[in-house]
Amino acid sequence: MALTLCGRARRFVSATSVYSNGCLQRLQQTGSNRFQLGEAKVIRLLPRRTNMVQELGSREDFLQENRDTETSYDFLGEMRQRFLRFKRQKYLPQIEKFQALAVAQSPKVMVIGCADSRVCPSYVLGFQPGEAFTIRNVANLITPIQNGPTETNSALEFAVTTLQVENIIVMGHSNCGGIAALMNHQNHLEQPSSLVERWVMNGKAAKLRTQEASSHLSFDEQCRNCEKESIKDSVMNLITYPWIRDRVKSGEVKIHGCYYNLSDCSLEKWRLSSDKNSNEFYVSDKEIWN
Ligand SMILES: [Zn+2]
Repeated sequence: MALTLCGRARRFVSATSVYSNGCLQRLQQTGSNRFQLGEAKVIRLLPRRTNMVQELGSREDFLQENRDTETSYDFLGEMRQRFLRFKRQKYLPQIEKFQALAVAQSPKVMVIGCADSRVCPSYVLGFQPGEAFTIRNVANLITPIQNGPTETNSALEFAVTTLQVENIIVMGHSNCGGIAALMNHQNHLEQPSSLVERWVMNGKAAKLRTQEASSHLSFDEQCRNCEKESIKDSVMNLITYPWIRDRVKSGEVKIHGCYYNLSDCSLEKWRLSSDKNSNEFYVSDKEIWN
């Protein structure tokens, strides 16, 4: 939609945005006094702009105010656009699938991932809606059953006993802030000072093992090692839950550990195996996908 602007407002509009359909959109100048507004309808523009300029008094104040407003409104506007694009391009063309998902879910996979914004399991591993029952926590830690209830093990219980997932994946990653907090924590302090520190101390065994085996390495290298060690510990902690252990032994459930390296986009994967003649479980079958 093209707009013709004149007078005082034109001096500001090329560096700012306008309200459109309830959200702000950036104007692009396409001529001396003409501007392009993308696809949406303009519902409020120049009177509000001009009044704002008069009220604010100076161009600098106006632009700063606008930048602050624009940041938050652009974010929500972008979210709205993404949701509507999802509905138009994904939901409606597969409406039967989504209507079935509205009634029930039967995922085959349970994923425990890190809360880190860069490592969304569905994005990295390509899960579609209904495929993966997912929970994320700081540093993708799973505590043993004797430590009591957590959000993570309650989600595990539901996924395994009710949804009857066939695979459990513990997905860790490189440059994990949670593991860095664990490695940074001073061992001699009795009580960690923050909730994050208290939570990541659940990975203390992996930390101590890492420090013992690789004290000659740099802190960053030790963190990379600890990230992998803590995945293995979480995998082993899974079998402290009898409803997981029994299903692993019968072959109903398979457990995997994954390590996603953000730097080179590779994925290291292990599987939990059991010895049929004993109650021994061990991590094996290492693969690297790159
Ligand atoms: Zn992380």
